[in-house]
Amino acid sequence: MAKAEETVLEIDLKALGHNYRYLRSKIKPETKFMAVVKAYAYGSDSVSIAKHLQDLGVDYFAVAYVNEGITLREGGITAPILVLHPQKIHFKTLIEHRLEPSIYSKAILADFIATAQKLNTLDYPIHLKFNTGLNRLGFSADELPEISVLIQQQQAVKIIAILSHLAATEDSKETKFTNLQLHRFDAICQQADALFKTKTLKHVLNTSGIINYAHAQYDMVRSGIGLYGYGNEPHVDEALQPVMTLKTIIAQKHSIPSGESVGYNRKYKSSSETVTATLPLGHADGIGRQYGQGKTFVSINGHMAPIIGNVCMDMIMVDVSNIECSEGDEVIIFGKELPANTFSQTAETISYELLTGLSQRIKRVLTN
Ligand SMILES: *Cc1c(COP(=O)(O)O)cnc(C)c1O
Repeated sequence: MAKAEETVLEIDLKALGHNYRYLRSKIKPETKFMAVVKAYAYGSDSVSIAKHLQDLGVDYFAVAYVNEGITLREGGITAPILVLHPQKIHFKTLIEHRLEPSIYSKAILADFIATAQKLNTLDYPIHLKFNTGLNRLGFSADELPEISVLIQQQQAVKIIAILSHLAATEDSKETKFTNLQLHRFDAICQQADALFKTKTLKHVLNTSGIINYAHAQYDMVRSGIGLYGYGNEPHVDEALQPVMTLKTIIAQKHSIPSGESVGYNRKYKSSSETVTATLPLGHADGIGRQYGQGKTFVSINGHMAPIIGNVCMDMIMVDVSNIECSEGDEVIIFGKELPANTFSQTAETISYELLTGLSQRIKRVLTN
């Protein structure tokens, strides 16, 4: 890849393919793979990521909201797309774009059936989401008989899948709780099979579920973060490759004497002669103020430079006093040499938040 000449987010499709093959190797060949590409494919570029994964044979896609699904359809994705959290006002457009809703309450089910009937659908595919302990979205198990009655009274929609979401698959201290969630899910699946009489897909595992609870893969798994190169555990991170690398350049260097300050509110004060470098990205790009004040480092010519003072909207300043570098040199914010999870940990957050917070202002560049 050419050296950066501005702030760019490099998206490595080869690394994506590597991660997909690694995750697939953890499940049975017949298990379907749903690639989670919500939030611009975790901050990268949903259409290019989904297209590449579709070519590699991914069975299904998932997004959070209807507009994200429409973007995929308009970008040429023909595989089934699950919308995890559709809002009622978008049910009509959801159906028009052949997106599949995750339905999580009786009221939402009734609303969806009404919209489907208005559009004269027959057996429109829906997924039912059950709450097994995350306590976020989902039917409770004891609503199954009523769901069954609602479904049998009509032909506009058809239940094709049953899902739930696990709260702590990456946490080895919570295996008991995860097993309890899986046990509850299993009971729901058995009851659903007995009631609905048609075969439905079952899916419950996310990335860390695939790694730690592969026995519960059922018919399909849903993976997001792993595809982008992060596994929530060091031994998985080692096997995966970061897909996104955020790079920029040194815009300007300053040599400042001892006792000067740097940036807004004078939050950095030099205690000796200091050389700073100013970089053209800031909190408007997704590198928030929590990464300032010397807590977080970027990589310049193989050396680590701390971000000093307050992060500005469009710029950050780093200390390069001990680094040989020039204006125009490339700077790695995070990615291949400096994993996003290491970077995000300095501000006590997770790779998911750092990646999905990268603003659309940053140019995306595909490599393969
Ligand atoms: C985001 C999401 C996933 C993907 O989780 P990862 O940890 O990124 O693999 C799976 N299922 C649901 C319901 C989600 O919301």
